[in-house]
Amino acid sequence: DKFKHGLEKTRTSFSGKINELVARYRKIDEDFFEDLEEILIGADVGVSTVMELVDELKEEVRLRNLKDTEEIQPVISEKLASLLEKDDKDTTLQLQEGLSVILVVGVNGVGKTTSIGKLAHYLKGQGKSVVLAAGDTFRAGAIDQLDVWGERVGVPVIKQQEGSDPAAVMYDAIAWARSRKADVLICDTAGRLQNKVNLMNELAKVKRVIEREVPGAPHEVLLVVDATTGQNALSQAKAFAASTDVSGLVLTKLDGTAKGGIVIAIRQELDLPVKFIGLGEQKDDLQPFDAEQFVYGLFQ
Ligand code: GDP
Repeated sequence: DKFKHGLEKTRTSFSGKINELVARYRKIDEDFFEDLEEILIGADVGVSTVMELVDELKEEVRLRNLKDTEEIQPVISEKLASLLEKDDKDTTLQLQEGLSVILVVGVNGVGKTTSIGKLAHYLKGQGKSVVLAAGDTFRAGAIDQLDVWGERVGVPVIKQQEGSDPAAVMYDAIAWARSRKADVLICDTAGRLQNKVNLMNELAKVKRVIEREVPGAPHEVLLVVDATTGQNALSQAKAFAASTDVSGLVLTKLDGTAKGGIVIAIRQELDLPVKFIGLGEQKDDLQPFDAEQFVYGLFQ
């Protein structure tokens, strides 16, 4: 299935290596834990998380009096799953009756447009009527690219000319979505990093319009980050979360990296749920994130 296929690279580097380690050591000892640490850090799980995880494993080994490396394998997946589920923050989208607004943010190139297209397709599949707002009026080609996705997945795209005021685009899109009684409006935003202050100001303005026009909106502010950039994705997420109220993450391109452990690092170091993961470039390559399924995908 998609999950399994999309996580192939990470699985090979991750559970492949762990299996090899288990077979090589047979007995649990200090060296085993040291090598395990190396594998986990190599998969971008993050140093502090790995230390914590390995400490917990050692404790578990002591309590359960485990001796064989084979016995520790299920404990590793248990621990990883519990790291990902560490609190009860909902990983599902928070939508409301009537019009829901999802604001999508992130820097250029991370897969924002693609994720919006895929998300529209996913929601359509759930019987929702979806409208897209072309709020990235800055990057050349961004509007056209969103248009292509709109056509591909069969949802309307509300747009103005390149260079126009994104807040005005949002205003139009909300009015349009309302008049058609749409369920979900997904708003693209500019993602230039060159001028961070302007970007954040513009984002704040766009958000104000949405808040003013739709009570309770935006219902979600999804930050898109690229898993292939590893620890960079983490620092980007931290920077965004510090200046905008992000409600959840979309982690893209997990199919293109062997370092899928970044999901765990992000979950540990940010108090933000991963809501969706991108596992390819096609319209149905976006999956709602499920910790158990993810860990299962890593080991099967
Ligand atoms: P944006 O600049 O953030 O809007 O990024 P795009 O949506 O244009 O995506 C940049 C590139 O990443 C495109 O070539 C996409 O096809 C690709 N991409 C996006 N998401 C994924 C994913 O989950 N997996 C893979 N393999 N490629 C992706």
